Amino acid sequence: MVNTVHPPLKPRFWEEKSLSDMSREEWEALCDGCGRCCVVLLEDEDAPPATYLETKACCRLFDPTTRGCTDYAHRFTRVPGCVKVTPENAATLQWMPESCAYRRLAEGRGLADWHPLISGRSESVAQAGIAVAPDLVNETLIPEDALWEYVTGVRET
Ligand code: SF4
Ligand code: SF4
Repeated sequence: MVNTVHPPLKPRFWEEKSLSDMSREEWEALCDGCGRCCVVLLEDEDAPPATYLETKACCRLFDPTTRGCTDYAHRFTRVPGCVKVTPENAATLQWMPESCAYRRLAEGRGLADWHPLISGRSESVAQAGIAVAPDLVNETLIPEDALWEYVTGVRET
């Protein structure tokens, strides 16, 4: 049996490296696990451009109790609408929550003090009110034309 050992992440590596210079481990560690990119959004076409409404529905592969994707390795083939965040697009995905670590760094805002890399605790994301609630409803259980009934508010972008 071979054990793979990853070197520990360097403290505050995100302040010294650009997104495009980060290792895979560093990149993955940036995700705060809020789950907000897995919430089903509706675009409000009557509102100013790029107004997105958050719903109480989540992607079919999302587990709201763990705030994780249940098939992360195959997410792009299983869910064609799942968007890969990259160093190149992180600043342009306006539907992503403004709290998203990738957006924050791409926009030069740094990480928030509730981010687990700073707080040292994954619970700090929920305690700061950033994480999605565990009672999101799987989108497969909601008829598409009923999604409007699940709107919870406007996404801050
Ligand atoms: S919104 Fe950003 S930080 Fe939150 S789960 Fe998605 S990728 Fe991670
Ligand atoms: S496929 Fe996975 S990562 Fe992509 S939106 Fe759905 S739950 Fe989130």
